[in-house]
Amino acid sequence: MNKLVYLDNAATTKPASEVVQEMLPYLGASFGNPSAFYGFAGKAAQAVDEARKTIAEAIGARQEEIYFTAGGTESDNWALVATAEANEKKGKHIITSTIEHHAVLHTCEYLEKRGFDITYVGVDEDGVVKLEELKAAIRPDTILISIMAANNEIGTIQPIKEIGAIARENKILFHTDAVQAFGHIPLNVDEMNIDMLSASGHKIHGPKGIGIMYIRRGVKIGAFIHGGAQERRRRAGTHNVPGIVGMGKAAELAVRDMEEAAKKVSELRDYLIEKVMKEIPYTKLNGHRTNRLPNNANFSFSFIEGESLLIMLDQAGICGSSGSACTSGSLDPSHVLMAIGLPHEIAHGSLRLTLSEETTREDLDYTVETLKGIVKRLRDMSPLYEDFVKKQK
Ligand code: PLP
Repeated sequence: MNKLVYLDNAATTKPASEVVQEMLPYLGASFGNPSAFYGFAGKAAQAVDEARKTIAEAIGARQEEIYFTAGGTESDNWALVATAEANEKKGKHIITSTIEHHAVLHTCEYLEKRGFDITYVGVDEDGVVKLEELKAAIRPDTILISIMAANNEIGTIQPIKEIGAIARENKILFHTDAVQAFGHIPLNVDEMNIDMLSASGHKIHGPKGIGIMYIRRGVKIGAFIHGGAQERRRRAGTHNVPGIVGMGKAAELAVRDMEEAAKKVSELRDYLIEKVMKEIPYTKLNGHRTNRLPNNANFSFSFIEGESLLIMLDQAGICGSSGSACTSGSLDPSHVLMAIGLPHEIAHGSLRLTLSEETTREDLDYTVETLKGIVKRLRDMSPLYEDFVKKQK
C-alpha cells in the first residue's frame, strides 16, 4: 500500500526531524550518565538541564519544578498515588471527571481499592466538566482535584483556570492531565493555579517513553519510583537523555509554532468537520464545536460499526481511531462518548480523526470521499438502516 494519510495524531505524532537530529548525539558519542561526576558526562547533564528549562518556560514554571518521567501514564499515576499517600491523614476523598484518560481512571480504581473515596464529576453534552457539580462534590476531606486540560477522544478543552481557582479557594491540590493539551494550547501553571501537571513527549512530535510531571514548589508529595537520587530524589532511574533532549526540542518547536500551527490546523479541522457533516447524512460531531483542540475531529455515524469503518479506512491507507470496542479490549463503547450521553449504538459508530501541521486539504478530500463510500457501503448492509429508510418513506 502506497498511500498513507495519518490522522491519528492524538495517539502519537511523527517525531520532527529537528527532534531526531537533536537526539542522535546522545544515542552515540555523548552517551555519558548525567549523574556522573566526570567532565565527559557534562554534556549530557547540560542537555538535560536545557530541556528542563525549555519545558518549564513552556508552562510558566521554574526549572526545579519539572521532573522527567517515562510518559504521561507514569506522571498521572504519580500525581494521584503520591498525593493520596502524602495526604491520607488529612482526607481520603479525590475528585476527578468521568471522561479522564484511563491513566487517571484506573489509578483512581486502584486507590478506591485502598480505601479512598473518588467522586467522578459529570460533563455536559459537549464534554465540558460541570463546574457546579464539581463545587458541590467538595468535602472537608477532599485532598485532590484531577481534571484533564483537554480530552483525548473528543478534544473538548476544559475550563482549567476556573477549576484551578475553585481548588485554590478550597485549599485543595489541583492536578491536570495535560498530555493532549501541552504544546497545542497555551498553559500557564500560575495563571491557572495548577499544582501538578502531566505531559508527554510523543504527542508533540517528540519521542515516546518520556514525559514530565510539574510539581509546584512546596507541594509535599513523595517519590513514586524508588531507587537512586535522580530528579532531586523524587524520581529514581538513570535519565533517558535522548528522550529528554527530544522532548525538550519538541517543546521548543511546539511553543515557537503554537499560534501559527493552531490557526492552520484548526482551519483544516473545520474544513473536515464541515465537509463530513455536509456530505455524510446522519452524522453527529462529538465534542465542543469550537472550544476543542485544534487538531481534533470526532464523529458518530448512525447505523454503522466503528471497527468495520476503521478496517476499511486502513485498507484505503487512512489511519484513524475509534472510541469503541477492540482498541480498549472491551466490548463497551468509549466511556467518554457514554459520558456525553450518546446511546450505545451511536457511540459504536464513532471515528476520531486527529490532524497535524503536515495534513493537507488533499488528504482531507481523499479521506471524506473514502469515508462517504465506506459509510454508504456499511449502511447498505445494515438491517437497522434498511428499517429506518422504510420508516422514512
Ligand atoms: N493522558 C491522556 C489524556 C492521553 O491522551 C494519554 C495518551 O494517549 C496519556 C495520558 C498517556 O500518555 P503516555 O502515552 O505518554 O503514557
